[in-house]
Amino acid sequence: HAFADIDLGEALNLNIRRCKYVTPTPIQRHAIPILLAGMDLMACAQTGSGKTAAFCFPIISGIMRDQHGERPLGSRTVYPLALILSPSRELASQIHDKAKKFSYQTGVKVVVAYGGTPIDQQLMELEKGVDILVATPGRLNELLERATVTMQMIKFLALDEADRMMDMGFEPQIRKIVEQMDMPPRGRLASDFLSNYIFLAVGMVGSSPDLITL
Ligand code: AMP
Repeated sequence: HAFADIDLGEALNLNIRRCKYVTPTPIQRHAIPILLAGMDLMACAQTGSGKTAAFCFPIISGIMRDQHGERPLGSRTVYPLALILSPSRELASQIHDKAKKFSYQTGVKVVVAYGGTPIDQQLMELEKGVDILVATPGRLNELLERATVTMQMIKFLALDEADRMMDMGFEPQIRKIVEQMDMPPRGRLASDFLSNYIFLAVGMVGSSPDLITL
């Protein structure tokens, strides 16, 4: 099993080679085919196990395949196609750095938005266009309240370190965000039936989740 044997799209496969990833890690080997097939997924794996790529690759690949969806032209509203929620600025920033490397020259644009920094700068960045939005729940709700960003076209949702987000009391914020999606996940949110999960990714929006525990 090698990444070269998985068709994620030419540009993404090239970036994977650039990152010197040859063999998928166990979480990637299990998660990527499920997510590529369009199914929801909950997965649990330790820090450092390659979970970022496990949810980023199918998202980037899916957006490339989908040719960026059909967003209204001439609108100032921002319509991300994928949302990755993370419990902290630091983690959001790390995911953003990796996702940017993975999506180099794929035409897929990644933007990060988190609290504790001026919102106006993030708004300006967002208005230039975004396919994948990496965000913390609080700041994203602020952006949604300003009606600059909408969840209407979200097709991919990843909750990174979902258990930590629940422990930190983000559940109401996350529910508020998910309610604004046209196709909310049919699977329940993490807290309904998970605890002590190191990470959870509810994958492609709209199917019922598989569960992987490593
Ligand atoms: P993560 O668990 O996503 O934070 O990834 C942990 C580290 O493993 C990061 O430095 C990744 O760049 C690296 N990594 C992820 N997947 C692979 C892979 N398939 N082969 C080699 N390194 C990887």
